[in-house]
Amino acid sequence: MDLVSQANNPSYENHLIPNIATSPTTPTTPTTPSTATSSSPSSTSSTTPSRYENQKRRDWNTFCQYLRNHRPPLSLPMCSGAHVLEFLRYLDQFGKTKVHNQTCPFFGLPNPPAPCPCPLRQAWGSLDALIGRLRAAYEEHGGRPEANPFGARAVRLYLREVRDFQAKARGVSYEKKRKRPKPKMNTSNTPPPVPPNASS
Ligand SMILES: [Zn+2]
Repeated sequence: MDLVSQANNPSYENHLIPNIATSPTTPTTPTTPSTATSSSPSSTSSTTPSRYENQKRRDWNTFCQYLRNHRPPLSLPMCSGAHVLEFLRYLDQFGKTKVHNQTCPFFGLPNPPAPCPCPLRQAWGSLDALIGRLRAAYEEHGGRPEANPFGARAVRLYLREVRDFQAKARGVSYEKKRKRPKPKMNTSNTPPPVPPNASS
């Protein structure tokens, strides 16, 4: 049966879909005869940007607001990787992810049996995705790629540090699941379908 080999594919594609959807998804709506009142079929697809685009715009607005409220005042061209780090730490106060201190008895436990006073932080995955969106937004708003503060080395190092510490503190692994051993695919086992008229 060919269905078995197809079932292995989605787990691989799941990694790629959420972040790479930079272009608005145009839903391929099949021509359904039931919806006879299709007065404006094009408006629905063009006026609804993808979730990624919406989120990117919100993130960008948040960051610009952060710059406006910054003391001393900060303009976008003045922004460096250090300011981005400052922004990320500022966001931590709105975080919802419990990250245990090294002194906490629950350090490294995925499911702590009791509450503890450790702080809530932004999860590494959220920060990582956020930086990706802001990095793209910066260049879409005319920023030069070589001056992109969201692509700064310090930011990359900080994210890696956050990932490693949160993985330890929360007892979880951020290893990519892509490394799951796949059943060996023997292409020779699946012969091409033979059309009935080719048997001559
Ligand atoms: Zn704790």
